[in-house]
Amino acid sequence: MIDVLIIGSGGAGLTAALNAKKEGAKVLVVSKTYPTHSQTCQAQGGINAVLKETENDSIQKYIEDTYKASHKLGNKEYINYFCSNSENTISWLDSIGVPFSKNIKDNISQRKFGGTKAKRTCYSSDYTGLKILHTLYDQCLKENIEFYNEYQLLNLIIENNKAIGITALDIETSQVKQIKAKTIILATGGYAGLYYGFTTNSYSSTGDGIASALNAGAKISNMEFMQFHPTALENKNILISESARGEGGYLVDNQGNRFIDELKPRDEVARAIYKKYEEGEKVYLDLRHLGLDKINEAMPQERRLVQEFMQLKMEKDLIPINPSAHYSMGGIITDIEAKSSIENLYACGECSQSGIHGANRLGGNSLLEIVTFGKIAGENAAKKAKKVKIIENTDSEQFLIDKNYIEGIFTKDSEIDFYKRKKELGKLLFKNVGLFREEKSMKNSLEKILEWKKELNLIGLNDKSKIFNKNLTDLIEYKNMIELAHTILISALNRQESRGAHFRIDFKDELENYDKNSILFLENDSIHIKLEEIQ
Ligand SMILES: Cc1cc2nc3c(=O)[nH]c(=O)nc-3n(C[C@H](O)[C@H](O)[C@H](O)COP(=O)(O)OP(=O)(O)OC[C@H]3O[C@@H](n4cnc5c(N)ncnc54)[C@H](O)[C@@H]3O)c2cc1C
Repeated sequence: MIDVLIIGSGGAGLTAALNAKKEGAKVLVVSKTYPTHSQTCQAQGGINAVLKETENDSIQKYIEDTYKASHKLGNKEYINYFCSNSENTISWLDSIGVPFSKNIKDNISQRKFGGTKAKRTCYSSDYTGLKILHTLYDQCLKENIEFYNEYQLLNLIIENNKAIGITALDIETSQVKQIKAKTIILATGGYAGLYYGFTTNSYSSTGDGIASALNAGAKISNMEFMQFHPTALENKNILISESARGEGGYLVDNQGNRFIDELKPRDEVARAIYKKYEEGEKVYLDLRHLGLDKINEAMPQERRLVQEFMQLKMEKDLIPINPSAHYSMGGIITDIEAKSSIENLYACGECSQSGIHGANRLGGNSLLEIVTFGKIAGENAAKKAKKVKIIENTDSEQFLIDKNYIEGIFTKDSEIDFYKRKKELGKLLFKNVGLFREEKSMKNSLEKILEWKKELNLIGLNDKSKIFNKNLTDLIEYKNMIELAHTILISALNRQESRGAHFRIDFKDELENYDKNSILFLENDSIHIKLEEIQ
């Protein structure tokens, strides 16, 4: 019997796995990709921490910066723990072998990110996420942690309001499997992939875990807060990390003029750039003054990406950029123990709304979040598993429903081209629930989404092969995308104010009566929303 079943093998899932195993649990990690492909490997810029309190920086300042960026939606107690524990988190990563860049005194190097008072972001050149992920994976292999790769989560199995397992598609054979466990951790990443064609994320960031939690009866939260990164390569959506500005890069317009303090919070910088585009201007990242040596030392990967995708050289050329959907602040609401609102179900990483980022995440805080709360989730899920009695491995109703559904879909031809819809969805979200929002276009978008939701039953498969059927896995993701697009629109319409990443041109001010989390839940098959006080 599995004690702790973890869905997702990004930084959050692997940290949870190691810590659950340390507590003596039998752990299984299930993931639709291989661990080395998880989104975490794309993180370039770094991970925040106060390594030592000095006259320049302190834990208190870090707490203040994180809370300020959250626009009052962060939970003060959770932020306090998160920041105070940051040095421990980095020490742990250092101790398991993450090759952080070091300064001349052999201390971990730190750089400055936007919205912060000090140089606080630890890094490993511009491969920080990749180095963390690969080190975690090495440790998991060393600990003999079991992995089922290329298994796609379908649904949670719930009995008497408790999570007791999942159903998953074995991608290789198209068979539906049931996996039962004493406790379950969702670590399935974010939903910026819904902004298809307008996102820095890989297209597998479709929020599957969040959709499954909502459908299982869990509360999800703050879905309206989508962070747009200011600097993605124009029309390519490949990220140039905030570290480029942190190292001294400028943002300039057509005339070569700087027009904003480059280290303001991401929401403000992204909106300023988008406005320039609306005025018919273009915006460039100017790193030429940093020189080749500095660029090679601090951002070799990004230099290579610019050369390969834009045929430009960072040390010589201006680099055209545009904002792109980057990080989803909303997700499964969790408490300081990483518990969701369903018993025995935990969540960590970008799929959770853990009370840290509120309306706007600080760069470098996500990698810290996945490790901080990955550890908490792993430990608590393992401790809880010790108190859960063995769960019978009989076929659940959910398993039979999902098995019938998947078998049925192979007999059905498609009346709708959902690949076309996916592109339309990306465009619609970026345009109407993007950097600037207003009621009329959001209401129209909601109607469209509801139409697309109704036609889901008309969608079948054009490819009927059972082996590695991409058409099938794409369809399952598309259904989750539509479900979550619905929640984004409801939340964005409901929040009649502007706050952090959510900017409404019809309600431009931040209003005290919205100092609350948006909470969504399913009741009688329909999605409900309410605002809840921050605890
Ligand atoms: C280009 C880029 C650069 C970034 N740079 C930084 C940075 O410098 N600093 C920082 O703090 N943050 C950064 N971020 C954000 C940060 O990388 C992510 O928020 C973080 O890595 C998310 O980790 P995670 O473990 O929660 O999810 P992920 O790494 O996304 O992993 C999710 C896992 O869940 C699995 N999964 C998903 N759905 C299913 C399903 N249906 N069934 C089974 N498995 C499933 C996936 O296969 C994957 O293994 C960056 C993000 C991007 C896109």
